[in-house]
Amino acid sequence: MKALAPPPELKISEWADQYRVLSREASAEAGTWSTERAEYQRGIMDAITDEKIDEVVVMSSAQVGKTEIILNTIGYYISQDASPIMCIQPTLDMAATFSKDRLSPMLRDTPVLTDKVKDPRSRDSNNTTYHKTFEGGHITLVGSNSAASLASRPIRVLLFDEVDRYTVTSEGDSIALAKKRAMTFWNKKTVMVSTPTNEGSSRIASAFEETDKREYHVPCFECGEDQILKWKNVHWEQDKPETACYTCEHCGAVWDDAARYRAIRRGHWRATAPDVVGKAGFRLSGLYSPWTSLENAVREFLEAKKLPETLRVFVNAFLGETWTDEGERVDDFDIASHREDYGEKVPEGVVVLTAGCDVQSDRLEVEVVGFGVDEESWSVDYRTLYGDPNSAGVWAELDAYLSLIWEREDGVELTIKGSCVDSGGHHTQSVYRFCKPRLGKRIFAIKGIGGEGKPLLNGRPSTNNNLKCKLWSIGVDTAKEIVYSRLKIKEQGAGYCHFPQHYTDEYFKQLTAEKVVKKYHKGFHRREWIKVRPRNEALDCRVYALAALNILGISVNMLAQKSGKSGVKDVDIEKARPKRRQTPRKSGNFVQGWR
Ligand SMILES: [Zn+2]
Repeated sequence: MKALAPPPELKISEWADQYRVLSREASAEAGTWSTERAEYQRGIMDAITDEKIDEVVVMSSAQVGKTEIILNTIGYYISQDASPIMCIQPTLDMAATFSKDRLSPMLRDTPVLTDKVKDPRSRDSNNTTYHKTFEGGHITLVGSNSAASLASRPIRVLLFDEVDRYTVTSEGDSIALAKKRAMTFWNKKTVMVSTPTNEGSSRIASAFEETDKREYHVPCFECGEDQILKWKNVHWEQDKPETACYTCEHCGAVWDDAARYRAIRRGHWRATAPDVVGKAGFRLSGLYSPWTSLENAVREFLEAKKLPETLRVFVNAFLGETWTDEGERVDDFDIASHREDYGEKVPEGVVVLTAGCDVQSDRLEVEVVGFGVDEESWSVDYRTLYGDPNSAGVWAELDAYLSLIWEREDGVELTIKGSCVDSGGHHTQSVYRFCKPRLGKRIFAIKGIGGEGKPLLNGRPSTNNNLKCKLWSIGVDTAKEIVYSRLKIKEQGAGYCHFPQHYTDEYFKQLTAEKVVKKYHKGFHRREWIKVRPRNEALDCRVYALAALNILGISVNMLAQKSGKSGVKDVDIEKARPKRRQTPRKSGNFVQGWR
């Protein structure tokens, strides 16, 4: 009879406080769960089990514990209200990682769940990475890029994680596809969480707009007035993040971290569009995170604001806000003010030289770019090597060119530390044949991948081609956004681009030959790059030279410090490269981690 008794009516927060155990490998605070620790999570989790609500949208910072909210929701529905559940991650790989690193430890360490979901090691356990069954339901993990797996089975609880990183397949929008699976349930639940991306194309932002738009208000310990935490109320003395504090927007009282954490514990959600029913929306910046000190937040900000692309990451991932892009087109690029007379030699600010090569049907175009502290850059040389890429001659010329030694103003002799050659045109085989034996010289074969939000380095290199040549995928849209946002920097210093006097007007026409347009595609906005002039090789070369710097995986700032100490010597790139692949830390250095 006990087994037939209805489960006690718990809210998700109550279930988590009673049963949830945080696993050692997945949490800095292993042990029993406490909703109080991040009080704002209570309102979000309890909205999911609120029978008047069928859709919950969370647009937030990356640091407020939203994965735990998803995990608690899964745990609750396994333990209290068995249902078919589907959790959709941006990619199938990410679904596997989520399953192994987050879901499995929870199932193992939370006793009420361990009993329900069988051990994956036992035979016929019906428990695999992507599919786990339990009495009365199952949980299926899929990637937004595998639309086929979204078909068939009806689902009651749909969990969409990181929706702003979803890809659109030829079958259409994965969110719409998945939602069809839940149509048959009168008590269906949809939970959608993400850090936002660009204004206009962020899916979490547009989903949030359709909800009752709740904001988390916290009371001031001094005057008692409620307020939403805002970045503009964070103050610090110039260049001293350790002086960071929060000031009440009503009375000006100064809060330290402890006062801020206390205020968050006493806060509450309030809808700003209370007329909307059935859809609850929650917005949270990293300022609410009990795991982030203001000092660290300011430190991240000071580092991030040096460059537009890192500032964008800060705005999205820490503030949890969309980014309004101004770097869509370089219309007013003032060539005259960017062209400088370097003289014969490479300017002294250059620490590392890289090259980018574009392959055309009758020639190769290649640019050598020097990078210095904070990725300030100096274009060094642009060359067109004429010849048929199907024949060896032009490749021998490229080999010789990439092996040249360049003299810097202070007498140091520089070599090119990394080069990218585009394999995307009609001469893929020739590019593989050239690059494969030259991997030791750090000449990399690359392939440009279009699409908004694809990282500059799109995963590890593949060798999935007939010559087994290592091939790197480059998120060219992201790279172009970085290049264009840097062209707009008017002050010399971080990110600024210098060009030598001998660069032609045609070069600059090609460099600024593209712009971003917004297109409406399968139901939502998408940003696409289009050419406004027929030739754009200069832009491509620039993008590939930047990609080469990223493939090297070195910190120019660190190299600059080292070479300053070691005197008159070119930098030793092998010593500067990390021995192991670095994984982003759990919290803290997210700006680097998200690039
Ligand atoms: Zn106050």
